[in-house]
Amino acid sequence: MPEPSITFLGGVREIGGNKILIEDGPERILFDFGPSFSPRYDEFYLNYLQPRSTSPIKDLLEFDLIPRVPGLYSRESLHGADLEYEAPKIDAVFVTHAHFDHAGYLKHIDPEIPVYLGADTKVLLDAIQVSGRGGYGTHRWKILTPRTPVRLGNLEVVPHPVDHSIPGAYGYVIHTSAGSIAYTGDFRQHGPRAALTQGFLEAAAREEPAAFITEGTRVGPDPRKNFTEESVRGEVDRVLEASSDLVLGTCYPRDIDRIATLYHASQTAERSFVVSLKTAYLLSAVAGQPGFPKVPVPGQTPDLLVYERPKKVYYKWEEPFLAGAVDAEYVRTQGKKLFLMLEMMHFPELIDLRPPKGSPFVYSMSEPFSEEDLEAEVLQNWLDHFQLRRHSLHASGHCSGAELLSIAQRLKSSTTFPIHTEHPDDFHPKGTTVVSPEKGVAYPVTAR
Ligand SMILES: [Zn+2]
Repeated sequence: MPEPSITFLGGVREIGGNKILIEDGPERILFDFGPSFSPRYDEFYLNYLQPRSTSPIKDLLEFDLIPRVPGLYSRESLHGADLEYEAPKIDAVFVTHAHFDHAGYLKHIDPEIPVYLGADTKVLLDAIQVSGRGGYGTHRWKILTPRTPVRLGNLEVVPHPVDHSIPGAYGYVIHTSAGSIAYTGDFRQHGPRAALTQGFLEAAAREEPAAFITEGTRVGPDPRKNFTEESVRGEVDRVLEASSDLVLGTCYPRDIDRIATLYHASQTAERSFVVSLKTAYLLSAVAGQPGFPKVPVPGQTPDLLVYERPKKVYYKWEEPFLAGAVDAEYVRTQGKKLFLMLEMMHFPELIDLRPPKGSPFVYSMSEPFSEEDLEAEVLQNWLDHFQLRRHSLHASGHCSGAELLSIAQRLKSSTTFPIHTEHPDDFHPKGTTVVSPEKGVAYPVTAR
């Protein structure tokens, strides 16, 4: 029987797009299945220029933007492609977390293939499917129990919850017939669930893994400040306290921890926290669900308000939040009692909101990776035009490069594969052989 192997079908020299195939005898399982953000995808598809919904795989294969894997895709997605539909040849897909670059291509996968994920990740995917663009398809969803192994022939997969900038993230320990593999997914050690990450790393270290697959988002040049969630809270408290006017802010729409942090800061400052309809929907979907932090609930928590942008048509999921929603006029008059969250795509609201000059704008997202980031430039133009004072306050969802070094050294894996990074060659932990993987190459897993 051939030895077990790992093949990287995405996430190679790029941040995002993880797609990892692990084979052992007849078993073939995948970890994550998300689109690559950059640079390749953006070379052909941008904004409204997207693959056709009638022939998505054909349009992605044209530019080598999705792997050519027989027996993986649904009949419907394969329409028109020069890859024949075949009955499933993949036994299961395991998802680490609900970020788009890890789960965004699930929709193309054959509905017969089981998809394993955390209960909290399923809650998030459902909420995103209802209130956002795009879906995840119909699947045989299998909900994981933390630290409880899933056996698939020769393979045993143990899911370990980890901390990341979205609840419900998992790392995995995979036992193959030759040795074990540890895969981090995306993770950090400085967030509210840091203890989970330590639990995963302890379990992974005990395995003395043959292979360690680690994310490396912050390996290489990393000019960003190293805030923790707690220090973000402290800084936001100061901003809110120092202002006697409206305070505005923005964060990632699914970063529940950050939304909770900003809300609690708002409470301390005796301001009402004002969120979009989309955030209101997400909060009501996750409120009280196990695995999620305590969040304010629209319609129940008194100091949480929902901002209603003028729209011609409202979606069904938006309707429950419209009663009692506030508008630009309300924000203009009550500004000093409010902390208003505004997604960048809703910036035209500023034209009606007319925030007082010099109002603080809490930018609670990661700084752009490159200086030619068009979005960052447009954002700054809006802030300049309205003379808003920007405060960049963000705790990353990822371990720093230095932390990753010490983790790789602690695990002493025979081979370490840095993925989900643009700088795999800048990663030099001691006591392990680093292999910067090439896309599509099967790397054997050999017993130590
Ligand atoms: Zn992520």
